[in-house]
Amino acid sequence: MQTADVVIIGGGIVGSSIAWHLTAAGCKDVLVIERETHQGKGSTGKSMGGVRAQFATPVNIRMSLYSIPFYAAFEERLGHPSGYRPQGYLFLATKPAHLDYLRANHERQLAEGLKTVERLATEEIARQFPQLRTDDVLGGHFGSSDGFVDPYSAMVGFMTRAGEQGAKLWRDAAVTAIKMDHGRIAGVESTRGTVATRTVINAAGPWAAEVARLAGVDLPVEPLRRMLIPTEPFDQFPHTAPMIIDMSNGFHFRPEALGFLLAWNDPEESPGYKTDFDPAFIEKVLTRAADRVPCFENLAVNPKRCWAGLYEMTPDHHPILGPVAEVPGFFCANGFSGHGVMHAPATGKVLSDLVLKGKTDLIDARLLSFSRFAAGRLLTETAVL
Ligand SMILES: Cc1cc2nc3c(=O)[nH]c(=O)nc-3n(C[C@H](O)[C@H](O)[C@H](O)COP(=O)(O)OP(=O)(O)OC[C@H]3O[C@@H](n4cnc5c(N)ncnc54)[C@H](O)[C@@H]3O)c2cc1C
Repeated sequence: MQTADVVIIGGGIVGSSIAWHLTAAGCKDVLVIERETHQGKGSTGKSMGGVRAQFATPVNIRMSLYSIPFYAAFEERLGHPSGYRPQGYLFLATKPAHLDYLRANHERQLAEGLKTVERLATEEIARQFPQLRTDDVLGGHFGSSDGFVDPYSAMVGFMTRAGEQGAKLWRDAAVTAIKMDHGRIAGVESTRGTVATRTVINAAGPWAAEVARLAGVDLPVEPLRRMLIPTEPFDQFPHTAPMIIDMSNGFHFRPEALGFLLAWNDPEESPGYKTDFDPAFIEKVLTRAADRVPCFENLAVNPKRCWAGLYEMTPDHHPILGPVAEVPGFFCANGFSGHGVMHAPATGKVLSDLVLKGKTDLIDARLLSFSRFAAGRLLTETAVL
């Protein structure tokens, strides 16, 4: 029978980052089990790649304060590009309540040591981006170290280096059962055989609840479809632009290749494993796009290039990280609620610390523990895109 010190279920960006952090910390006997024939077929390969530290809760800000510099130094440290482009995130406020919200967040961001966010007056925004309709804009907040990464490249970088540091990756192998011995983890059964281990990390993305159920854990993580629209080449808006978020309706966009990537959180979407792209979504998004950026009326979209993927939502839109007290040896790295790429480096560090040392200095891990749900200690993150 195979053995491993740690088995990670799921070889997306989160599982790969955990594998890298564990092996970098000296825990070499790590096995990542991925059911697809290639990595990145889950949420990671569908992501918009946005990274930001402009969050509302200190714990999310701290996760970003580890992750963004990590992505900035990725190539230097791992010898592989993360594709980090610090083009920023610009939130456009159209109501006094938006400005109050951004201001309150900014105070928390400053308190955590984030110094790259500034308030912009409407005139400044209009000067920088005359293509935007700003008649209803009351101001905005711009974070200059926010930006974008290439999630696929970062995932491959993490896994390649983890492999060189001792980790093994099984592809085309689905975990089908989790074995217990006297109430604690004893191993996993997979389509490629049984592995004895004392430590299992659930990094199964939108399928996290299914994997947790194998260990008898009822994990509150639900898949939620998100659709993205890449446009055809378009040069009437600068390609140096940040991610721009219209707070009046949640429409946001960023430059991508020669065109733009358009996104909007459709409130009519309901949980489930839906990954088909609905062509009716294009009209909904283009209406909002042209409303904020009049020249976007001229955008061309090929429906065949659009795609859909799954967010992994938790009730308080924060991830669930760390051990499950009821099942010794079972750890979660789940429920990123749309932030799993930007928080993958910090997640790797936190999980590695919690598995190897039982504690971490990076965040107050109790805040993100599975036990917060039973204890009614839910967090509130309103800056979810
Ligand atoms: C359209 C869209 C846009 C997004 N935009 C952003 C963004 O701008 N910024 C950001 O930070 N995040 C964004 N996200 C969210 C982000 O993509 C996810 O949070 C992140 O990719 C989660 O990574 P993961 O490794 O946990 O999950 P995944 O990449 O889904 O990996 C999980 C893996 O587990 C495997 N698996 C599942 N069950 C089993 C099993 N039983 N046995 C073996 N393997 C199994 C799956 O095959 C999968 O490969 C976006 C998501 C979508 C869909």
